[in-house]
Amino acid sequence: MKYYSTNRLSEMVDFKEATLLGLALDKGLFFPEFIPQHEAAFFEGMDKMSNEEIAFEVLRPYVGDSIPETEFRDIIHDTLSFEIPLVNISERIASLELFHGPTFAFKDLGARFMSRCMGYFARYSGKRMIVLVATSGDTGGAVANGFYNVEGVNVVILYPSGKVSDIQERQLTTLGGNIHALSVDGTFDDCQRMVKQAFADTALRDQLFLTSANSINVARWLPQQLFYYLGYKQWKQKDENPVIAVPSGNFGNVCSGMLAKAAGLPVKKFVIACNQNDAVIDYLQSGEYKGKETISTLSNAMDVGNPSNFVRIQEIYEYNYQRMKADMAGYTVSDKETLETMHNVYSDYHYALDPHGAVAYFSLQKYLNDHPGEKGFLLETAHPVKFDCAVNAFGVLSAELREKIDALNQAKKEFSSLPPDYELLKKELLTIA
Ligand SMILES: *Cc1c(COP(=O)(O)O)cnc(C)c1O
Repeated sequence: MKYYSTNRLSEMVDFKEATLLGLALDKGLFFPEFIPQHEAAFFEGMDKMSNEEIAFEVLRPYVGDSIPETEFRDIIHDTLSFEIPLVNISERIASLELFHGPTFAFKDLGARFMSRCMGYFARYSGKRMIVLVATSGDTGGAVANGFYNVEGVNVVILYPSGKVSDIQERQLTTLGGNIHALSVDGTFDDCQRMVKQAFADTALRDQLFLTSANSINVARWLPQQLFYYLGYKQWKQKDENPVIAVPSGNFGNVCSGMLAKAAGLPVKKFVIACNQNDAVIDYLQSGEYKGKETISTLSNAMDVGNPSNFVRIQEIYEYNYQRMKADMAGYTVSDKETLETMHNVYSDYHYALDPHGAVAYFSLQKYLNDHPGEKGFLLETAHPVKFDCAVNAFGVLSAELREKIDALNQAKKEFSSLPPDYELLKKELLTIA
């Protein structure tokens, strides 16, 4: 499999190069040169296959011979080390729980797959690899955890001091080992600027094997297709295809579902669930795409004004607006509606949603109200325990939630503090390597 750049101004590369580069040299996103197809028999026999077998079938063509089969099976085994259950909430709505991984959010799966692929590539490179990332919150935790103890790889994470939640900071700073947290006395933009300077520093890159763990990396994006395959595997009413609601920010997750559908996965409709950051919803209505200023909301992992993966959606649908519109229904959900949904679903069904899942639930319910006879599931992308507004919505905390909070609160934070100065970051990187 080769990958081309969505800007079409740089050479095609294989899976290994696409993973190590992250972004194409012309700043486009990598996209597979074709979408491997599955036959109907694959979907019919799916409930008899193990999750790992399904993952192997789905992802093998994308990786090609970049990773030998035995190692690739090990990577899949490690990636799928937690449950992804489909749980009924009501008669017509189920929840695919993607939060059973180590940092309680769906990004764990992509981060684990990518980290193990990079670990494999690092093992045979002869140089020590440094994964350098800036985070405003969630991504850093999933990346840190994914790479924890991966041999031959050090991870350096920059985050703005005092601007991430306490739980998020704990997930970055309590692992130790090959994970190095740098608390920058500045903003997220300062962190990002310093990371960009490091990547632009060719003298530094001669000494270090520097790579990013960006959310647009193919090795994070492609494995997210598994959510949709594994959700369908557990979908009981096979004569009726599911409507799937996805809380969307940068659109990597829902776009991997669309890739799965293009490969043959039966999906009735994608419900695109957005908070006030809804540039794509506007596009679905008007046919014209305009990025927006980012607005802060309760579902903060979806606060993206100009989603990078929108271009990949256009590639999947071959830039055909009518085909896109036919496959998607989009909704914008306010913070007020998000809070009300968490309360209502908890009091009606005793199911605890997080704010991102609540945005999806609200959207799915709206869609189903207009489409009697259809049923579906939402992707519950994070555990409610990570969000105070969710925990507060439930009145009392269940024993399970309490236990998860306690475990995190007991871990010890370790990090270095740094002013927003690139030269100091450089020094730090050379010491770590
Ligand atoms: C990142 C994230 C999202 C948004 O996913 P995208 O792939 O960026 O659309 C939704 N929910 C949670 C909890 C997240 O961390």
